[in-house]
Amino acid sequence: MQDLKNTRRKFLRQSAAAAAGLILAPTLIGCGAKGTAPSTSPAPAAALPKTDRKLGIALLGLGSYSQGQIAPSLQSTQHCELRGIITGSPDKIPVWQEKYGIKDENVYSYDNLETIADNPDIDVVYVITPTATHKDFAVRAAKAGKHVWCEKPMAMTPEDCQAIIDACTENKVRLSIGYRMLHEPNTQQFIALSKEKAFGEFTGATSYAGYAGQDPPTDYWRGQRKMGGGALYDMGVYTVNGLRYGTQMAPVAVLKAMQDRPTEVDVTTEYTLEYANGMTATAKTSVVTNYNLLKIEAENGWHQMDPMQPYGGVQGITSAGTVLGPPIEGKQQTLQMDDDALAILNNTPMMAPGEMGKADVRVIRAIIESAETGKKVLI
Ligand code: NAD
Repeated sequence: MQDLKNTRRKFLRQSAAAAAGLILAPTLIGCGAKGTAPSTSPAPAAALPKTDRKLGIALLGLGSYSQGQIAPSLQSTQHCELRGIITGSPDKIPVWQEKYGIKDENVYSYDNLETIADNPDIDVVYVITPTATHKDFAVRAAKAGKHVWCEKPMAMTPEDCQAIIDACTENKVRLSIGYRMLHEPNTQQFIALSKEKAFGEFTGATSYAGYAGQDPPTDYWRGQRKMGGGALYDMGVYTVNGLRYGTQMAPVAVLKAMQDRPTEVDVTTEYTLEYANGMTATAKTSVVTNYNLLKIEAENGWHQMDPMQPYGGVQGITSAGTVLGPPIEGKQQTLQMDDDALAILNNTPMMAPGEMGKADVRVIRAIIESAETGKKVLI
């Protein structure tokens, strides 16, 4: 299990080579209702009114992503402060309290999460646990009156995603999904090219996200189907979301899909999506093979991100020779949390709203259904 985690970390730290860049105005993507094109262009943090207020963040789940990425990134945010922890592992409490100066009254277990409602220090609960647990934790946090940030993929099913959305709406709290790439400046340049159709109408797309790990062990959640393990949920969500922001369209069907499932979860999934304009996109995702690419082809050229989602930086290039870069290391989560904090403080749209997380989970479920039935599945 440790080897698997180390391989993931090593892959995600890989950075691309530096290159000079053209700076375009960043634009971002939201998501429309079922079957509609994604809408919206919420402003990135840089374009929003500034505020001196910092939001108090409590991390729920202190595993490798919290420990290795989110807590360190919180230290360099301008609009957030790591003030609380919610954990099922008592041994982690003194370590986190000492490292991040977390007060005793801001420490919670999964059992007493509800009492966070009375704590004015905490504005946001960031759910960073295995995917199958997101729904219950996110709903409980919303019912406690706290804004919810929820890691990707949002939940196991569109119904679970909707339950999170409903709980946040009913309790008048904001919801954002941890799609860090939407906050990454080179990706934002890539999205700008997609939005302006810089090379004409789109004719095709390719989306790959995989790393050369090993079969996920069955005693760890990433090897367990019911917990949201497997390549498609874990890594494939980047290919699905990448195609959403890359094409600026929602797919209408999964034409075909294939899953390599040596144990209970898939280690590789390949799929083809169809769009309303007749275009198709091919994608693959893996936890045993290394690849990372998002390419949009159009009538008069193409633009691509290669690689498209490592922590260590991403870089784009176009058929016109334009470089989208240079790669920026280590800022994705910082930008994500500042963008999301400012959206709360200024009451502006989230870049990665719950509807987007739900739309992606709907695509994931359709891919699984297509792989299992061998048929085209409408989305
Ligand atoms: P992890 O296994 O390292 O940590 C999971 C944590 O959840 C552990 O602390 C564990 O104790 C806790 N937990 C709570 N309830 C649990 C339960 N019922 N069963 C098992 N563990 C439980 O996993 P991770 O890599 O930190 O991933 C956590 C979430 O973050 C996942 O949704 C994953 O997809 C997401 N993630 C996102 C990114 C990103 O780049 N956005 C990167 C890594 C992970």
